[in-house]
Amino acid sequence: MSENSESLLPRTYAVRTYGCQMNEHDSERIAGLLEADGLTLADTEEEADVIVLNTCCIRENADNKLYGALGNLKTLKEQRPNIQIAVAGCLAQKDREIIQERAGHVDVVFGTHNVHRAVDLLDEARKNGPVIEILEEVVQEDADLFPSALPTRREEEHTAWVTLQIGCDNSCAFCIVPAVRGPEISRPFGQLIDEVKDLAFDGVTEVTLLGQNVNSYGRDLTMKLRQEAEKPTDHLLVGELWASDSNRRPRPLFADLLRAVGEVEGIERVRYTSPHPKDLRPETIAAMAEVPEVCEHLHLPLQSGSDRILASMHRGYTAERYLEKLNEARAQIPDLAVTTDIIVGFPGETEEDFVQTLELAAEVGFDSAYTFIFSPRPGTEAAEMTDQYVDHEICVERYERLRRVINRSSSLTHRNRVGKVESVVIEGPGKRSPDQVTGRTRQNKLVHLESSKDLTVGTYAKVQITDAAGHYLMGELIQVTAPAKHRRRIPVVSA
Ligand code: SF4
Repeated sequence: MSENSESLLPRTYAVRTYGCQMNEHDSERIAGLLEADGLTLADTEEEADVIVLNTCCIRENADNKLYGALGNLKTLKEQRPNIQIAVAGCLAQKDREIIQERAGHVDVVFGTHNVHRAVDLLDEARKNGPVIEILEEVVQEDADLFPSALPTRREEEHTAWVTLQIGCDNSCAFCIVPAVRGPEISRPFGQLIDEVKDLAFDGVTEVTLLGQNVNSYGRDLTMKLRQEAEKPTDHLLVGELWASDSNRRPRPLFADLLRAVGEVEGIERVRYTSPHPKDLRPETIAAMAEVPEVCEHLHLPLQSGSDRILASMHRGYTAERYLEKLNEARAQIPDLAVTTDIIVGFPGETEEDFVQTLELAAEVGFDSAYTFIFSPRPGTEAAEMTDQYVDHEICVERYERLRRVINRSSSLTHRNRVGKVESVVIEGPGKRSPDQVTGRTRQNKLVHLESSKDLTVGTYAKVQITDAAGHYLMGELIQVTAPAKHRRRIPVVSA
């Protein structure tokens, strides 16, 4: 337990998150650890006694953003020398000592493999001065290895992320993740199911299974067990289906996991992110089709429609293979929403390559897409391909052409939903009007509901879709199908 010598009031904290869902989930865990140590959430960052910046080096200008933020916090630290500033996450993992060289007022730097040490490191810094602790790799025996195994402070009570693996065994040329998060390590099957059961007991009805490459979940676990004689406890590591299979063939366990999570009482919706197209297997598609709790939404990152560029990215599939898998999923899962990620202007991308991306995007008709102009991440293979960089103006022009194609299919998929009755879970007050609430359909589409402000977060309702725009749907409440399992009213934005 930390000492609180400066005040009788509990110390307070703030966590600022940069980057992806994996980072947001890590932040939840950091917040949970701090709360378990007696700290409370500060009203504002300026008032906090402990400020954690959980960084990401995947997004553009990540270091500029971090050092800009640290520059602003320097003034705060001069005014309130007893506050502690910590930098965590993948930029910390990558930059290490550089952070304290550039920002001497930082008290603690810790990386992606020791999130569970946050409180101890802050304590140590309070006693002995600044601390940097970056582990090169995870310590496999460590019970706190997975962020989900730590205490948590969830932003929403009805929905939760569950980390099923950490790291990535792929080597996409543009991506820094394998360098900063290490190789793939899957979390034991039984531990995951126990966590989902605990979440359901707490009133969580929707879980999102989280990993860098969810489709390969469990391959490492089965590889490890295949030569060993069967033990009665194997099912705790790999699940009943694999443990009871006499062949003990090494294989991923993701489809088994979808089925087992869907069976947990109280779980209404199961989502996952992100799959890798090369690892999307028929049994995963079958589980999505057969398990009613698994939502009809597939986020399948395309990155490029050109085989030449896909090969240069080391993605491990062709445009044709991508389409085959997607068509198989669409054939088996009615009303499937498909979203993607696409990079424009990867080094060496010609107009012909780009047109292939445009054509493929038009052929698929994505519900939506995260589209990015290539920007080099230091430490990646693509960052070294400087002689093939595409002129920025060309990238911008291509980006706009791609956006037009995506927006067209996005509007069309939304318009096709008008008149349908959807199951919607309420997420919070509407930002556009105090009389509205917003919710999500099973296809992960945002719906604004008029005159429904009394609905609590986590309520399930049948909603008639009345109108559509590019990024949202409008709907009318037909009936509440399941009340929220926890008691928290949506704050009304204004009278
Ligand atoms: S699959 Fe590729 S893009 Fe995804 S985390 Fe691994 S290396 Fe990065």
